[in-house]
Amino acid sequence: MACDDPVELVPGVWQIRQELSEEVPLYLHLVVDPEGSALVDGGLPSSLGWIERLMAAAGVRDRDLRFLLNTHGHHDHIGAFAELRSRTSAVVVADPAAVRWIEDLEVNLREFALHRPDIIADSPELRAELAPTFGRPCPVDVTITDGGTVRLGGPVVLEALRLPGHVEGELGWLERSSRTLLLGDIVTGTSWSFFHGHLLPTQLRGSLHRLRALTLNEDVRLVCLAHYASRTAAEFLELLTEVERYLDQVTDTVEGALDATPRSLAEVWRHTCAQLGRVEEFRGLAMVQAHLREAVAAGRARCVGPDLYVALRSDGQVRLQR
Ligand SMILES: [Zn+2]
Repeated sequence: MACDDPVELVPGVWQIRQELSEEVPLYLHLVVDPEGSALVDGGLPSSLGWIERLMAAAGVRDRDLRFLLNTHGHHDHIGAFAELRSRTSAVVVADPAAVRWIEDLEVNLREFALHRPDIIADSPELRAELAPTFGRPCPVDVTITDGGTVRLGGPVVLEALRLPGHVEGELGWLERSSRTLLLGDIVTGTSWSFFHGHLLPTQLRGSLHRLRALTLNEDVRLVCLAHYASRTAAEFLELLTEVERYLDQVTDTVEGALDATPRSLAEVWRHTCAQLGRVEEFRGLAMVQAHLREAVAAGRARCVGPDLYVALRSDGQVRLQR
């Protein structure tokens, strides 16, 4: 069996893998109920063929597809939504904070990749690189918040979990009948050549903590993730520990760049990329900015000018040496 063939992980939960690059896989998931089915995330525009194969393998016809459940508004999670929504009667369900990015792709591109044009230029080259990964905008039909449920008509009920951290508006989905957890990018990639990125470090820690508790308390049997192979609860708990360690490493590296001499955001970003061996890229820039904001909020750093930061000692004084 080729690695990108559709597979039924547990009865009713189907998966297909698409390679986004040599180092980044994308897993797409279809939850099947006798009365209707739900696709979790819409991949990239190029994912449509994979989704069609997934539906065919699971015996899901266009008219059986009832929901397009989004985890978050990044381009690799929404790309085929517009096409699928127009050819089926499926309803697009998303977190309220994801709606702008799904419905307005220029806003999405600007806030995702072009957020600091003074540091990473809004160049024709960058736009040309990203353009094929952005599909058509898609209306969101229903927004859902933490604890909301989506019923497929039979035994399958998907419960929404609000999991901020990677972005503000991210949902996970807990399918209770098979005790399966379906996640987007809240468990971020830790070993790619670029930073996968996260915009809310404190909330990311909280969401990882919540996922650990939920896995144990709800007797989760299977965890499906967008950029990692699916795994058992025990394997998932190990992965959570790995991501928490990575988060500590990023925090230490960003804050380790600071002392009494004001350092600019760009300097700290370049230092962090060099220290941790990552390509300088827009996702990492947003992540470093978020960590600096967190350090200021926690009293470990002070902003002393536009984009200029110094370290603070625990007594609030500027740290003179490390
Ligand atoms: Zn992703």
